[in-house]
Amino acid sequence: MSGHRPLKRWEKRGVRVNDFLQSVSIPAVFSAGDAATSGSLPLAPVASYEGQVVAANLLKGNHQRPNYLGIPSVVFTVPPLAAVGLSERGACDQNLKFRVKKEDDLDLVFVSATCGNIFWVKVLVEVDTDRILGAHILGSEASEVINLFALAIRSGIRATDLKRMLFANPSSGSNMTRML
Ligand SMILES: Cc1cc2nc3c(=O)[nH]c(=O)nc-3n(C[C@H](O)[C@H](O)[C@H](O)COP(=O)(O)OP(=O)(O)OC[C@H]3O[C@@H](n4cnc5c(N)ncnc54)[C@H](O)[C@@H]3O)c2cc1C
Repeated sequence: MSGHRPLKRWEKRGVRVNDFLQSVSIPAVFSAGDAATSGSLPLAPVASYEGQVVAANLLKGNHQRPNYLGIPSVVFTVPPLAAVGLSERGACDQNLKFRVKKEDDLDLVFVSATCGNIFWVKVLVEVDTDRILGAHILGSEASEVINLFALAIRSGIRATDLKRMLFANPSSGSNMTRML
């Protein structure tokens, strides 16, 4: 036995790929979406996005890497549970210094006939940079409001700037300023 082990071509989830979504073992193969062992969750928007990256790399050579920053996910229960970015544990694992805004006190529950109900919120903000690290929301409008946090994380909008936003009222997004 030489001890040499062949390169593993796939994981349980799918094809093992490099940063350009190209198979690590067969360069002629690219993989996107659920069939790829990439760095993101198996979600429909991610599959479409990775398909675009693969197409670009196939046509013009490897020059695009997918950016998985700020991809929201939603558990479509009643009410929906939505998340984007880091969890508290994930942020701790990365030794980040962050503050947590948590609203699970019944007095702070936002209830509105037109804006929907937000029952529970947790938002993580990095202390030094003021960037939003993660947001977790439970409520009937969670799947909409989480998109605003995703936009902020992906575009690097600071928490202070978001807090200064003037949102249309009434709207589910207008609750955001109270979550920061
Ligand atoms: C129950 C369920 C609920 C979900 N809900 C959500 C949600 O709410 N939001 C969200 O973002 N994501 C959701 N997802 C995940 C989402 O559906 C997938 O991440 C997404 O469809 C992946 O797209 P894809 O193109 O990679 O694969 P697929 O959509 O699975 O497409 C692969 C296609 O390839 C075909 N195929 C397979 N083998 C072969 C073959 N040998 N030859 C030719 N064709 C083949 C299949 O028939 C299929 O049509 C859900 C998934 C499930 C199972």
